[in-house]
Amino acid sequence: LLATLILLDPPLPDGGRLVLVLSDRTRERRLEQMRADFVANASHELRTPLASLIGFIETLRGPAAEDREAQARFLPIMADQAARMGRLIEDLLSLSRIELMEHTPPTAEVDLAVLARRSAEALAPRLAARRMRLELSIEPGLPTVTGDADQLAQVLANLLDNAVKYGREGGRIELTLRRDGPDGQKGRRRAGVAVSVTDDGPGIPRLHLPRLTERFYRVDAARSRAVGGTGLGLAIVKHIVNRHRGLLEIESEEGKGSTFTVWLPAAQGAATLEPAQPAGA
Ligand code: ADP
Repeated sequence: LLATLILLDPPLPDGGRLVLVLSDRTRERRLEQMRADFVANASHELRTPLASLIGFIETLRGPAAEDREAQARFLPIMADQAARMGRLIEDLLSLSRIELMEHTPPTAEVDLAVLARRSAEALAPRLAARRMRLELSIEPGLPTVTGDADQLAQVLANLLDNAVKYGREGGRIELTLRRDGPDGQKGRRRAGVAVSVTDDGPGIPRLHLPRLTERFYRVDAARSRAVGGTGLGLAIVKHIVNRHRGLLEIESEEGKGSTFTVWLPAAQGAATLEPAQPAGA
């Protein structure tokens, strides 16, 4: 509790001169603590690959200076570490940009069906590498949403990326867009679009679910690093969804798979971009 004593000059009509202001600093402290933890975590995440890079550089300059075989072995590892630092910096920058915009609602009219098709195409090489297949299903006649197309594309990319990274090798991913209207579930009132990504991977133990969107929170840190994760993907998704006044729902069943659903409110008076009966059909 912070107490501040203010001396009034001139005094109040009743002659009073002193005002005592009491303010609760708990929330402020908690935010400061969270910020400090974040900086500490981010530094730690950067320091680890950096230390490894420095070690390899020293070895290559010293004992292994003439060792072609060691060079051939170390260089790809060094490239991986540098790439990991690059990804982390990109994600940190994205997160800070999104945070700055969080209180400025987006204004563009976005057709999620177009974004979904593009994201699905971009995923092809990564799916092939893990022998996975993607099933895209888009309900006809989806309304547009008011949004930021780049950010919504990032939401799709991050969720699909996780499904590929943590899903089952040789498994199936579903990307589904459906109208989630006024009579949708859970008493939702506004018209909208629900975008969900489902995998048939190992799933996520229930106790982790509430913390999954925290920065650097991982169910299995070693596995996340091994597949190139930064621990920031879902934090980025959550901030973008908040900016769009949407909702993020995570459902998962161990041994069966996970579904991440982002629900976005429809644009006011949204045009229907995808008619149920295509023109000329
Ligand atoms: P990361 O960069 O580690 O993937 P994210 O913020 O995207 O970070 O995800 C946080 C953690 O949530 C991951 O480390 C992983 O443990 C878990 N996770 C995310 N998506 C899935 C999924 N589809 N299946 C299983 N676990 C997942």
